[in-house]
Amino acid sequence: SKRGRLDRYLCTHLQTHRKAVRELMLLGNVSVDGLIVKDMDMQVDEFSHIQLGDQILQANTPVYWMLHKPIGVVSATKDAQHKTVIDLLDCEARYELHIAGRLDLNSSGLLLLTNDSRWSNALMSPTHKVDKVYRVTLANPLTEEYIAVFAAGMYFGFEDITTQPAKLVILANNVAEVTLSEGKYHQIKRMFGRFRNPVVGLHRLSIGDIVLDNTLAPGESRALTASEVACIR
Ligand code: URA
Repeated sequence: SKRGRLDRYLCTHLQTHRKAVRELMLLGNVSVDGLIVKDMDMQVDEFSHIQLGDQILQANTPVYWMLHKPIGVVSATKDAQHKTVIDLLDCEARYELHIAGRLDLNSSGLLLLTNDSRWSNALMSPTHKVDKVYRVTLANPLTEEYIAVFAAGMYFGFEDITTQPAKLVILANNVAEVTLSEGKYHQIKRMFGRFRNPVVGLHRLSIGDIVLDNTLAPGESRALTASEVACIR
């Protein structure tokens, strides 16, 4: 993530050398989060408020949003053909945000966006094993066999990996709820592809303890609450 030494930050942003930065600091010209700093080794990150005299060098606020992604909108910040999820956000800082866990063009549901790379890394890191829950609609009926195969893990030769145990609950003849603790490329479609059963609808319901707000219509978004943000750290 974007954490590092204050003196290095100042060298880069002021385009000057260590000695000049040291002098500015010793003169009491540099402040971080409102306090004068003379310690060259101090660690700062993208959300530290950094000032040189009364000139603001950096003042970012962490921002966290959920979007009910509609079908047909692409999970990218820029796209030549399709509208992007960023275009849909109600958030003023939308062009500074990145997506924490993409959804395919024809998938819908919970999408999280933030400018906090440490938070999104924790969310997506394989070691954290944050559960993602999907409601999947299939072209053909499901059988009990799917449950054991998803739980056992599936080998993907292309990446030479075996998927983590996944939970599959049959909700209806051709509707399942699938819980994954990882997110390999097109994972759900490929897992059902093994049964030659095409996915015709894929909707993400939750990521960890963050549940898609059922008051949000497709295309609508809102800021996360403090407790939703805190459940990831
Ligand atoms: N698995 C898929 O195949 N597509 C998604 O969008 C998410 C998980």
